[in-house]
Amino acid sequence: MMGRRFKKFVVSVVFALFLIAGVSFMTCFFQENGVGTFDYAMSDEVQAENVGHGDNVNEKEDGLIQKIAGTYNYTEIAHYNSAEAAARIIIPKLSKESSAELEDEYINRKIRITVNNSQYAAYTKDMVLCDKDVVKEIGIKDVCPPGSDTVSTLITIELGSVYEYNLYEENNKYIIDMFDIHSVYDKVIVIDAGHGGGDNGCGSLDSRYYEKDVTLSIVKLLKERLDETDIKVYYTRLADETVYLKPRAALANAVRADMFISIHCNYYDRYPAYRISGAETLYSSVNKKMKILNRRLANIMIDEFTSATDINKRSVINRKKELFILKKSRVPSTIVEMAYLSNADDVKHFKNIKKRIKVVEGLYNGIVEAYEKIYGKTVLQDSLKP
Ligand SMILES: [Zn+2]
Repeated sequence: MMGRRFKKFVVSVVFALFLIAGVSFMTCFFQENGVGTFDYAMSDEVQAENVGHGDNVNEKEDGLIQKIAGTYNYTEIAHYNSAEAAARIIIPKLSKESSAELEDEYINRKIRITVNNSQYAAYTKDMVLCDKDVVKEIGIKDVCPPGSDTVSTLITIELGSVYEYNLYEENNKYIIDMFDIHSVYDKVIVIDAGHGGGDNGCGSLDSRYYEKDVTLSIVKLLKERLDETDIKVYYTRLADETVYLKPRAALANAVRADMFISIHCNYYDRYPAYRISGAETLYSSVNKKMKILNRRLANIMIDEFTSATDINKRSVINRKKELFILKKSRVPSTIVEMAYLSNADDVKHFKNIKKRIKVVEGLYNGIVEAYEKIYGKTVLQDSLKP
């Protein structure tokens, strides 16, 4: 009895070893031949079912999104390594002539994919596939660009967060690899041009300058400087448009910004207005984890700002719970009240481009200094970027 059992055991072990060796060989073969298995967020059964064929296996999930399994030949584009994507969206390419573009509407945590040279009513929501539970809403709209007889399909995808995206074509599919921002960029900040659109903010006494325009013109110039660095910058607005306070703070939190800097102008509404002038930076001590960093950032910003401009240094103020964006932010944050629009001498700092460039220099130096002092990181210029 023992002998027969032992024989059976030996046969089983040998069979199992053959099986393991076979599977290992197959795995090495596929890896060496550049075929990566699309294995994240994929159940074992789906994976097993998928071995040996390249088709997608769709598993319906909450009506909106579907999990995908499949095998792909990874295409590496620029510095994006497809295998490191945090999530992936796949949309079929239905006609050979079509091409796709991606627009990142990060303030609303949305992306818009325009499929040019598409066909009318060709796309439906369930054709947009994602391998992770990150898609909140999908919108599909066909548009006819003016003067053209072709149809473009606009696919709007609302996501729970902000990512870095890489759109490419593969095997008749549009693939959007989504990356964690901090895995792509070493430095990430949010710059907020205060007010905008229907909200003018404060104004100069002669009504020639409004805060929303001053902050926007400064932020646009600041963008030119920051574009030359290795900092990834998200802007709450770059046009004269209404942006509510909630998405401004939400953006800073979503991208886990190293710093959130909100640019404003001040106003003194009592007589005599000319008495009050100068720059202030505001911070909040409400968030216990952030209060020291918030204060440090506010101090660095005012020091650099007032030394680059000749705007006088007024104060650094803890506004505790008073200001929504400071209260809601979970990253180091400050509001820079650059100067008083109610003071004619202060307004002069925004009157011509030369003066505005000095103001921008102050903000830029503040950001560079904050990276040095808070993070021990050196901001790199374009030529030195990795
Ligand atoms: Zn303001």
